[in-house]
Amino acid sequence: MTIALNATHDPKLRSWVASANEAGTDFPIQNLPFGRFRTAGSNEAFRIGVAIGDQVLDLKAAGLVDTDDMNALMSASVKDRQALRAAISAGLAEGSDKQAAWSKALLAQFKAEMTVPCRIGDYTDFYTGIHHATTIGKLFRPDQPLMPNYKWVPIGYHGRASSIGVSGQVFKRPQGQTKAPDAVEPSFGPSKRLDYELELGFLVGRGNALGEPIAIGDAEDHLFGVTLLNDWSARDLQAWEYQPLGPFLAKNFASTLSPWIVTMEALAPFRAKFERPAEDPQPLPYLDAPSNREAGALDITLEVLLQTAKMRAEGIAPARLTRGNTTEAAYWTAAQLITHHTVNGCNLQPGDLLGSGTLSGPTPDAAGSLMELTLGGKQQITLPNGEKRTFLEDGDTLVMRGYCERAGAVRIGLGEVSGTVAG
Ligand code: CA
Repeated sequence: MTIALNATHDPKLRSWVASANEAGTDFPIQNLPFGRFRTAGSNEAFRIGVAIGDQVLDLKAAGLVDTDDMNALMSASVKDRQALRAAISAGLAEGSDKQAAWSKALLAQFKAEMTVPCRIGDYTDFYTGIHHATTIGKLFRPDQPLMPNYKWVPIGYHGRASSIGVSGQVFKRPQGQTKAPDAVEPSFGPSKRLDYELELGFLVGRGNALGEPIAIGDAEDHLFGVTLLNDWSARDLQAWEYQPLGPFLAKNFASTLSPWIVTMEALAPFRAKFERPAEDPQPLPYLDAPSNREAGALDITLEVLLQTAKMRAEGIAPARLTRGNTTEAAYWTAAQLITHHTVNGCNLQPGDLLGSGTLSGPTPDAAGSLMELTLGGKQQITLPNGEKRTFLEDGDTLVMRGYCERAGAVRIGLGEVSGTVAG
């Protein structure tokens, strides 16, 4: 089921929180993403908040929820989710009689510490970016970049949740085994080909019972919302370890999420048709539904920026490496991922994370990883200050941003996810 537009999407709606009405804000009243926060520097328990302009609304203090458990909130029915959104929207709207009371439930975002937006039980990473899969495939298999299964089955693997952090994450460069193609034996040491992957993180809302697949027409009822996801990858570890069982230590040392979950309700004005080229196989019936064809895709613009340690020391802002759009990148929809994941009876639970896979566009200026941008490390990129990169160096901060823009709708943003290689 896709979500119909309602009063919460009205482009004319304005908030009594003045910063929410400013052009270019990621968090106008039409967005209302959920996150977990506390006052920075405190030992308070994390609680549930909604971003509005440059503020966070404390949902419990506002009398909207009686829990600090985001996973419990995420498991609510679609009807209850929509009722909560309607109540938050009405209370934050200009002229609301809640203004006096809710003003006391606001905290400026710069005073808030955010954490991973929910308790992530299981993490599955997919591979829906067909341009990414083709470009990477070409590096390994020039004659057959895409494996024969790619256009039939959403490819994925089970990842690891324990090392998932929130924006601002600082992590050590991973060590491991690598083997150069011309070397006789592997060597051990720090990864020399550390990369990022630009992904969306789909967060599961209501789960399904073991043994009961989710039909594609119902799949979005089980999807709570979307974050940005940086799936850091050590390419040299990956190349040596990935056959025959797939990624392992090349992927599980860190993954970073943006702090705000933009709900499927908020994304309703930014849906797109899911279309396959005529020459491609059409999805098998269990992965096909009218709702998925009409509006299964998401229309989100994604940007990647890099700030080196030198840039940071000199006060230079992060430089943009690429910009692309999800409609050009993803070969499968979120609904198809949920349905495929459960078709064998596997049970999803509230807070499970499904990574989209690297969302690269068809051209290099929309590449979602350095592996693609530098043609496997063969072609350096030059930053505006003259520094060069093939892969990430110690002190580099990588930033991803996402936003939705459409005529007739108010722009909403996913915020940003940043992370730094400590070395
Ligand atoms: Ca990935």
